[in-house]
Amino acid sequence: AALAGGGPQRSPAAVLLEYWGYSKFRLCQEDVINTLLNGGDSLVVMPTGGGKSVCYQIPPLVLDRVCIVVSPLISLMEDQVAALTTRRIPAAFLGSAQSSRQVKDDAWAGKYLFVYMTPELATASGAALAALHARRGIALVAIDEAHCVSEWGHDFRPDYRRLGVLRDSLPDVPMVALTATATPRVRDDIVRNLRLRPNAKCFVESFERTNLHFSVQQKSSIVDAAAELVAARRSAGQVLNGRAGRYHAKLSQTERRDSHAAFMRDDLDVLVASVAYGMGIDKPNVRTIMHWGVPASLEAYYQQAGRAGRDGGKSRCVLFWSPGDAITLSRIKESEGLSAEGRANFQEAMSKMQSYCNSTGCRHAHLVNFFTENALPAQARLLMSAVCGLGNKFGLNRYVQLLRGSKTKDLAPWMLEATHAISGEKLHGAGTSRSDSWWKGLGGLLAAEGLVQYYSKGDYQVLRVSDEGARWLHSREPLMKELPPALQEEETRAYRE
Ligand code: ADP
Repeated sequence: AALAGGGPQRSPAAVLLEYWGYSKFRLCQEDVINTLLNGGDSLVVMPTGGGKSVCYQIPPLVLDRVCIVVSPLISLMEDQVAALTTRRIPAAFLGSAQSSRQVKDDAWAGKYLFVYMTPELATASGAALAALHARRGIALVAIDEAHCVSEWGHDFRPDYRRLGVLRDSLPDVPMVALTATATPRVRDDIVRNLRLRPNAKCFVESFERTNLHFSVQQKSSIVDAAAELVAARRSAGQVLNGRAGRYHAKLSQTERRDSHAAFMRDDLDVLVASVAYGMGIDKPNVRTIMHWGVPASLEAYYQQAGRAGRDGGKSRCVLFWSPGDAITLSRIKESEGLSAEGRANFQEAMSKMQSYCNSTGCRHAHLVNFFTENALPAQARLLMSAVCGLGNKFGLNRYVQLLRGSKTKDLAPWMLEATHAISGEKLHGAGTSRSDSWWKGLGGLLAAEGLVQYYSKGDYQVLRVSDEGARWLHSREPLMKELPPALQEEETRAYRE
């Protein structure tokens, strides 16, 4: 990539070491960074605490070009700006009243390497962004908490949906969308609404957090929850000195900021908070997260509980619930006004939440399975896209070779260009995380369900997508099928790796 600032280009690894002091990249960080440096879009799905920020904070430092970051939460942006400033990286937050005229002028003049802004400001600043890009160069646009574009997610924000217009102002600037919500519907919505380009790469990380212990208890008295907390501290050799703070929507902005700052400084042992204490709180040493009452979905729960143990240390997530929680939540939802579709989604999410609460097996396995089950439709759509992409005229083997990225001559050059029916991703090599036999097993399952069908062509059996399959492929429906046990085991393993 061309260097705007001149001078020798540092490698991503050198930047990571210099500014963060880390010697190794985690998970897919390096692949995401290289994709962005090469000008490609990407969607990054990583659990909370996985290290998403590094993915978009390194390319601007390598290229010496500006990074625009959009996030739904002002407190989160302020934390990030403070963290970058501490590392001597010029960063600013442009929001409503908080930022001064001078900061705004400087930002648009290209004096900050990182410019954080609200989605409202980003969508309203098309011309200024294009001018900044022409003058200074914009390395990339990062959309944090990207699930906010989707009504299927747990935190839909209409302002987020409009962010696709950034593509018009900055047609050639790579965009990276980041989220901890992994369901395929949400992913599809992100790709479509943010108008990620057809060559966008999707990185999905494992959701297993082995340092977290999950448990569920029936609600009785809130005193039990407090007792549980004291016991947990004691077992870790600590005492509770009653330093507790609170955080909820009815406090003033100052009170909220003070609580947050005190908690971050370790001046509080306990923070009692409502969901107003938002997503993305980056405090590494949270040891216990207790929920008094169930969140509206398992995705929301996993994301909130996932704030525990970000430093990798053993931590506990306890959910106190009662069957009445669903009723309370549905009253709140009703008061917000729900469409019929929204109500059905809510009910579906609640029943999954309740089956988590009632399950007797390992809770963590239950959570990982929840995300795994949701991956099956994505895999099924991938295989069916391969069948369509090759014109419905080959045997199952050929489709599997394509997804597995085989180098065989059986795959003609045009086949290597075939793309996903929905996301437009290249299919060749899109399915390397599953084995040949896994894909063949899935093919058998889809045939048994009538989504694909065999027919004879000359001497051999050819597989095509059925009419029903074609309808399902382009729908947003899940696939309500049990994966046969043999496939299930590999599926779970693939997710853990
Ligand atoms: P997320 O946004 O995915 O919730 P963050 O980007 O806030 O996660 O990162 C979580 C924590 O992991 C941070 O404290 C960050 O400094 C740390 N971290 C990120 N990348 C690495 C790495 N390559 N090596 C070690 N620690 C890392």
